[in-house]
Amino acid sequence: PTFPALGLAEPLLRALEARKFLVPTPIQADSIPALLDGKDLLGIAQTGSGKTAAFTLPMLQHLAAHHVRPAPFVTRALILAPTRELALQIDETARALSQHVRLRTVVIIGGASRFKQVEAMRRGADIVIGTPGRVCDLMQTRELQLGAVTHFVLDEADRMLDLGFIKDIRRIVSALPPRRQSCLFSATMPNEVAGLANSLLRDPVRVEI
Ligand code: AMP
Repeated sequence: PTFPALGLAEPLLRALEARKFLVPTPIQADSIPALLDGKDLLGIAQTGSGKTAAFTLPMLQHLAAHHVRPAPFVTRALILAPTRELALQIDETARALSQHVRLRTVVIIGGASRFKQVEAMRRGADIVIGTPGRVCDLMQTRELQLGAVTHFVLDEADRMLDLGFIKDIRRIVSALPPRRQSCLFSATMPNEVAGLANSLLRDPVRVEI
């Protein structure tokens, strides 16, 4: 398949071209149409599969189609990653792919200035990309408000659980509106991850590479 055949809009196709993403990877070919269709998704895929663009592109297309001016401390989408490095990598991809649609991404991770992150949230966000600890921290002070989230991604769920983030994840998920699109990606699917997926996803499409 080609990216246009997957249903992606022109501004995203131009960004893909600029990035020299010419052919969809298998996970992209399977995930993008389902996500554009509004389905929840359970993705079993490793780093290197192209999963970041697979979950980012449909989110960008949905958010760009319903343009809302960001409200202070509010975000419309939340992507959780297990490590700071991965969060920054996802942000880099999201920024590159959104270069022709006006969307604001904010990174909320530990080990970086909390003050700067709060100042960034004061201007609101379309997409927050973060690690569970710092996201919980800003949630508790209402400097990050999740009541308007329409899109939620839990990336590398198996590593999240290995790193002991389950309590933070549960707290974050309980603050999300029940009506939302969610996806969970994991390289492996032990029982705890399957259980988490069950509680987060509603009738998900399963994609395995
Ligand atoms: P990921 O699995 O999301 O970490 O992506 C792995 C690598 O593949 C990253 O360096 C991406 O920039 C690259 N990539 C993702 N999708 C494509 C594509 N369709 N064509 C070429 N490279 C890609």
